[in-house]
Order: sequence, then C-alpha cells, then structure tokens
Amino acid sequence: MIAATSLPSQFRNDPYITDPAELCAALDLDPALLEPAFAAAREFPLRVPRGYVARMRRGDPRDPLLLQVLPGAAELVAAADFTTDPVGDLASSAAPGLLHKYAGRALVVATGACAVHCRYCFRRHFPYSEQSALRQGWQPVIARLQADASIHEVILSGGDPLSLSDRRLTQLTDELQAVRHVRRLRIHTRYPVVQPERIDAGLLKWLAGVPLQKVVVIHANHANEIDEPVRRACAELATAGATLLNQSVLLAGVNDSVAALAQLSEALFAARVLPYYLHLLDKVQGAAHFDVDERRALDLHRELTARLPGYLVPRLVREVVGAPAKMAVLDSHERSGE
Ligand SMILES: *Cc1c(COP(=O)(O)O)cnc(C)c1O
Ligand code: SF4
Repeated sequence: MIAATSLPSQFRNDPYITDPAELCAALDLDPALLEPAFAAAREFPLRVPRGYVARMRRGDPRDPLLLQVLPGAAELVAAADFTTDPVGDLASSAAPGLLHKYAGRALVVATGACAVHCRYCFRRHFPYSEQSALRQGWQPVIARLQADASIHEVILSGGDPLSLSDRRLTQLTDELQAVRHVRRLRIHTRYPVVQPERIDAGLLKWLAGVPLQKVVVIHANHANEIDEPVRRACAELATAGATLLNQSVLLAGVNDSVAALAQLSEALFAARVLPYYLHLLDKVQGAAHFDVDERRALDLHRELTARLPGYLVPRLVREVVGAPAKMAVLDSHERSGE
C-alpha cells in the first residue's frame, strides 16, 4: 500500500491548496515566485480550492485566476490612500455580526471563513473572530431583525455564508420564519464559482425549502472561472428557486479590458446569471497593484455598454464609507447634468 503522503496532491482529500510551494509546483511556475509568496502569505494566507486551480493555465504567472489567489511581493508595498478598513465595516456594526448598512436590508456576517482567499479582498484585515454572528448563536441577530419592521431583506455575507454547515443554515432560516416582515433572503457567495461541489444535494434541499424569495449573488471576475461544474451548480440553484446575480471587481491584469469584461458577461448569462455590479477596487492595504483608475474604468464601462445588450452590462459602482448605498461611478458629463 502507498502511504497517503506520497500520493500526488490531486488524490489527497484536502480540497484546498494552502502551501505556495504546492501551488507553484502544480502549475509549473518559476520557483522565484516562492519567497515573496511565503512572505505575503504570512499577512493573509494562501487558500484556493483544487478545482479552481485546475482551471488555470500551467506555466503562466499572468493567468487571470492565479493572479487572484497567489500571494506576491506587490502586497507588501505600502500605498498611500490604501487602508485596513476601507468600507467602514467596523464603524457600522449594529450588533455582533449584524452590519445594518442599507435601507430595508440587514447584512449578516455569518462567518469569517471563505473557500478562497482573494488577494484584493477588503476583508483581508477584518477581525472576523470577534464579529461573526454565530459566536452567540442566531438569537441576537433574530432579535435585532424582529425589532425593526423596516427590514425586508436579510443578506448573508461574510466571509462566505456557505462555509456554514447545512445544519447551521437551516437553524437560521427556521428562526427567520418568526420574523414576518422579512421577505427575501440574499446570499453572497463565491462557492458556486470556486468550489461548485459545495452546491450539493443537502444544500439544494435546504434552499428549495426556504419559504422566502431567494437571491444568490455569486462572484466571478473572469470567464475562465466559469466551466461546466459551475454552470451545473448555477442551474441547480436556479431550479431551487434562486434568482442569480454576479458581482465582480475590476482588477488590473485580471479583467481590465473590454474583451475580458464582455466574455465574462456572456459566460455568466450562459450559466443563467445576470451581471449585477462591477466594483471599483476597495482601497485596501496590500491590493494597490490591482487598482484601475476611475477614468479608465469609465472608458471600459462605456465601451462595454456600446457592445452588449443592456442586461449584460453590470453597474459600475464603488463603496463609499457611510453612504446609504453603492455609489454609481458616472461620467463627468453625467455628473454635471445632475
Ligand atoms: C453592496 C453590498 C450589499 C447591498 O447592496 P445592494 O445595492 O442592495 O446590492 C450587500 N452586501 C454586500 C457584501 C455588498 O457589498
Ligand atoms: S470570497 Fe469574498 S469575502 Fe472571501 S476572500 Fe474572496 S472576495 Fe473576500
């Protein structure tokens, strides 16, 4: 018998790669990338599902999926205007794990765990362990929702709420049924894209049984992320009653071209997902190398609008601390016409 440790990595049970050396070896990358990868991973660890790695091109350090997950030297460069809490999450906390930021909607930080660690993520410095709703069970969240009849939509965010077990999710939605004024459940998750196996029979059974309107907002940034298992997972979520939307982040080197953005919209629609938001990067320390300036973002968005049907053009937005909603990023002539 062969010892488990001598088996090639793809045969081991752990569905994640967390060791930069293993990732570089799996993709035939230059070992010179390793030292900076280890250094940057000390700040925010590497984590990527094996199935997502399988969609990357071998030997290409500029692969648009790899760039989203490989820690690198650029993250260690301090940049002016880039901070550790760019969207003001810590300031807007209403109860532990309940961030009530938008009219009619309550955002619940269900868990800090994610299937993937996206290098550009604004939560890379977020103190999840203190903020997760589940530290005290769902009761404080339910009580807070119960007390505010203006809330019609509960948004599960994180981290990634599908990191929770089906049992935990069921507990929440069972308790939510006592809150009469909540009509919609929205789930923000990258699992359908980065680890579609999570959308299994148990999860689908749970979702189909939730007697609320359901919206699942996935997060894909590049057409190469969307393969057959992803399309299957999305189709199953739709069959379970969810409306599917996508949010993406405009990322230098990943999707900052009209061709890449158009291909992403087309690939999403083929998976029954409508493009919803295209975010400008949150100015989080360690992600400055992904920044696309507003002028260029607007040019890209204008060209995309000229090329695609309106329903395939995501709204270009940015998050502004203290604002009651996402801010549309507008052309200067649109602004002067306000
Ligand atoms: C922006 C945002 C929301 C709410 O915004 P909508 O305009 O209602 O889509 C909820 N959750 C997260 C994580 C967001 O970034
Ligand atoms: S999955 Fe979402 S919350 Fe998690 S690291 Fe990626 S962008 Fe951040």
